Parts: sequence; structure tokens; C-alpha cells
Amino acid sequence: MQFIDLEAQQKRIRSKIEENIMKVFDHGRYIMGPEIEELERKLADYVAIRYAVGVGSGTDALLISLLANRIGPLDAIFTSPFTFIATAEVIQLLGATPVFVDIESDTYNMDPQKLESTVRKVESEGKLNPRGIIPVDIFGQAVDYDEICSIAREYDLFVLEDAAQSFGGSYKEKKTCSLADIAATSFFPAKPLGAYGDGGMIFTDDKEMFDQLISIRVHGKGSYKYENDRVGINGRLDTIQAAILLAKFTIFSEEIELRQEVAERYNLGLKDYVRIPFVKKHNISAWAQYSVLHPRRDKIIEDLKTEGIPSAIYYPIPLHLQKAFSHLGYRPGDFPVSEKVCKEIFSLPMYPYLEPDKQKKIIDCIHRYV
Ligand SMILES: *Cc1c(COP(=O)(O)O)cnc(C)c1O
Repeated sequence: MQFIDLEAQQKRIRSKIEENIMKVFDHGRYIMGPEIEELERKLADYVAIRYAVGVGSGTDALLISLLANRIGPLDAIFTSPFTFIATAEVIQLLGATPVFVDIESDTYNMDPQKLESTVRKVESEGKLNPRGIIPVDIFGQAVDYDEICSIAREYDLFVLEDAAQSFGGSYKEKKTCSLADIAATSFFPAKPLGAYGDGGMIFTDDKEMFDQLISIRVHGKGSYKYENDRVGINGRLDTIQAAILLAKFTIFSEEIELRQEVAERYNLGLKDYVRIPFVKKHNISAWAQYSVLHPRRDKIIEDLKTEGIPSAIYYPIPLHLQKAFSHLGYRPGDFPVSEKVCKEIFSLPMYPYLEPDKQKKIIDCIHRYV
């Protein structure tokens, strides 16, 4: 059994993928070829937002978004300690300070109430300028953007949605990547919409922001490549990855539906045995991960392994306790919800084509232990 099986998907659309790759071989525009704009237009329409910018990875999408917001030393960016390092890494790379805010105990997303008190605290200390918020749609479920964005307006902060795990999900009938000032997603192969390599995309409705993003993506270019208005990065999406994503996108909506069915089967089978995921009524998760909690997680993982069932821990260490951020001076106990979740959480195999009989084997194994 695999944790994420990409083969079943490939079987369905292999000829379309090959056809799209061959088109790139024929036109030969490996850098910024026409497939990139085609993908940008299709995904912008899908999430119902004006502008999309294809970039080299989800990390680049976050980094370029922060560069476009001119983030630097003395700026504070509020984010979650319960996420992949990339979210906070880009803040630190620009010399700004990640300020962590603990998560809700049910969704594992940033807690809006704790956000407000943390923003106030940073303001009153007067050492850092509160500039923006990066909420993370963890495991595929959107953060409560109405609440987060109203706090952002009150304190004049921008909101950058880290939708690396939530592309395809929705919040109050609106697709993720359309829920904040700017959004970043990832096409890492294991994400809900995955390429066959690295890739990412940025979404915004703001034309001025869009102009900055496309400039920063190619070394801060001006009207052409050798006129430079600013410094940027080499942050382009590969044409071949865009061609592959165009093929994968044709079945993406259906795959999001299939993920709901897989999650539903897990929920039914596991609800009396472990803490199953909680999805708010107004949300549809993209189910990047199906993650459950149990106090004796490590033992369950061992049992699954002896039966040939893979699992994973997202995330074993909250970011405020990582060595990479030790200079920020956080201590164990600072974010009790994140710390407890990191100790008890584990994720089960999740992909659209996970068969009911395989799922039954996983569920039975957990029943036997618990
Ligand atoms: C995967 C991920 C990223 C980074 O995406 P890459 O494409 O791997 O650079 C950022 N944030 C979160 C929450 C992620 O899960």
C-alpha cells in the first residue's frame, strides 16, 4: 500500500499528459511557454479571481508574495506554528520576524481570537511593525477568513493565504485562493493538484500587485528581461509542468469529489476510535491529508507498519520549537494546542483512488489496536 498513489491517476490521463508534453517538445518554449498562461487563466477562472501567476514552487509563491508586499527587517508577520516550515521560512529569509499564533483545537487552523491578542501585544511592545498575516489552510481546510480578514482590516494588515494544501477546497461557497488579499498554492506532486516536479501559483484580484508579481518572478524585470526595476528571483514555473498540470486539471474537480468519499468512509469507520478531522459546515476540505489524533499514536503507527500500511506525522515538531527558529526565544508551553496536536497527530493514506477494501484494512487495524 502507498501513502499517496499517483499511478491510478496517471493511468486515467496518461495519453493526455503525453500529448501535452509532446506539444512542448514541438514548440520548444521550455521557459515561459504558452501553457503557463493557459494554466494561469484556467486556474484563475476556477477559483474566480482575476490574476494568477505561475511560479517555481509553493515556497516561491509565498516568497514572491512577501517581496511584493515589501516585507523586511522590523516587520512582524503573524502565522501558525502548526505548518510546514516553508510558511515561516520565507518570513525569516527576508529578515522579518515570524510571530506565531496558536491554533484552534478542532480545525488545527490559526485561532482568530489569539491572533487579535497577539497583534495587540506586538503593537503595544512597539519593537516590530505588524504588517501581515499568513494563515495556513491546514490539511486542506480553509481558515475562518471572515474573522481573520476583519482583524486584518482593523489593524491594517495584509492577508496572504497559504493554500498549499487547500487548492480545490472552499469556504462559504468560495474557492480557496480567493479568500484573502493574495494567495499562494503549491503543485508539489503530493498536493491535491500535483505536478511531476515543483511548481506553484499566486492569486490576486489587485492589478498593481499582479504587475509586481510578474516582475519579481523574473528577476524584477521591467518592460523586458534586461531592464530591471527591482531585484527579484528566478521564480518561474516550468512549461512542461504547466503542460502536465493542464492534463491533470481536466479531472481535478472529480478528484476533489472522490476525496470527500474517501474521507467520509474513514470518518464512519474511525469516529469511535480516534479523533477524526473536524470540518466546519461552511467548508469543503481539499483533503491534502486525512489526519487523526490519538494519545498512543506511536504504537498505532507501529501496528500499521507491521501490516504494511504507511502513515506519516504532519507535524512532529511545532515551528516555535524548531532549532531554525530558536533565536525567537519561544519555549515549550507557549502554544499548548499546537504542542499537544504535534504529539498525538498522524495521517493515513489519502488519495482520490484509495479503494474501499484497502481503507477497510486500515480501519480494521486501528480497531484492533484501540
Ligand atoms: C507544501 C507546502 C508549502 C511549500 O510548497 P512547495 O511547493 O513544496 O515549496 C508551503 N506551505 C504549506 C502549508 C505546504 O504544505
